[in-house]
Amino acid sequence: MSADLAGKTAFVTGAARGIGRACAVEFAAAGADLMLVDITRNLAGVPYPLGSQSQLDYTAELCREHGATVLTQAVDVRELAEITAAVQVAHERFGRLDVLLNNAGIAAPSGKVAHDITESEWRLMIDVDLSGAWRTIATAGRIMVTQRSGSIINVASTAGLVGYRHFAGYVAAKHGLVGLTKAVALDYAPSGVRVNALCPGSVRDSSEYEGRMLAEIARSLGVGVDEHESVFVQAQPTNKLVEPGEVAAAARWLASDDARGVTGAVVTVDGGFTAR
Ligand code: NAD
Repeated sequence: MSADLAGKTAFVTGAARGIGRACAVEFAAAGADLMLVDITRNLAGVPYPLGSQSQLDYTAELCREHGATVLTQAVDVRELAEITAAVQVAHERFGRLDVLLNNAGIAAPSGKVAHDITESEWRLMIDVDLSGAWRTIATAGRIMVTQRSGSIINVASTAGLVGYRHFAGYVAAKHGLVGLTKAVALDYAPSGVRVNALCPGSVRDSSEYEGRMLAEIARSLGVGVDEHESVFVQAQPTNKLVEPGEVAAAARWLASDDARGVTGAVVTVDGGFTAR
């Protein structure tokens, strides 16, 4: 059996770009139909140029090239009502929900020691990167348990496994996400619903610089646009960044029945970074 998703439906958060886009396209190429969601305004409520509807539409277009049926919806993972509405639309349209990829995430604020993080910055980080995943589980998870099948993949990070200087909020949220993964895996194991964490290392950003995660982290650490990739490459045992497609291949495997014996696992796609 290959990592085949034919006949399956997947719900992907943060699908407008980056890893979320790569996973969505990978799922579509493996035969899945999709509900793709992303935020369409920035965290101050201003229309968001990058995670915008047009970016989300472009991901959908790439997925449709593989013959997938694709729905898109504006969802802020901080809003339970928005998630619930999108999950309902997907469930009504497809009649089932097989894969949930909790990918939406932010890495700011970075470059601050823990005591300099403001309370609102701290709350925001936990709200998006940790509570956002719980909210989708609270809605889609219930459907999967009733259905008695499903694969939930939480995109954590190597920051969910080890510490990074000046990243207390991100590290805490991602460690929390790994913990959430293990706890829900145990809750759902009797129902046949699998829950796993995917921990990418430093992943190459998609082409545009502005707003991309690695570039943003580098910028907040005072590293310039031109040198930002080489700074991360130096820390990699493989001497190369992880490609979004490499993360997507692992997500496809976790989503598929090939991984039927895998739950509560933490799968790293980090080029050996955490093996040191
Ligand atoms: P990215 O910034 O390119 O994409 C993140 C997406 O999430 C964007 O489309 C953004 O609009 C969306 N998003 C942000 N806040 C949201 C919200 N409140 N509601 C809905 N959508 C929201 O980043 P990426 O590199 O593709 O990262 C994707 C995931 O992978 C994140 O969870 C990140 O923490 C994780 N990760 C990334 C790296 C890396 O090196 N890029 C490494 C490890 C883990």
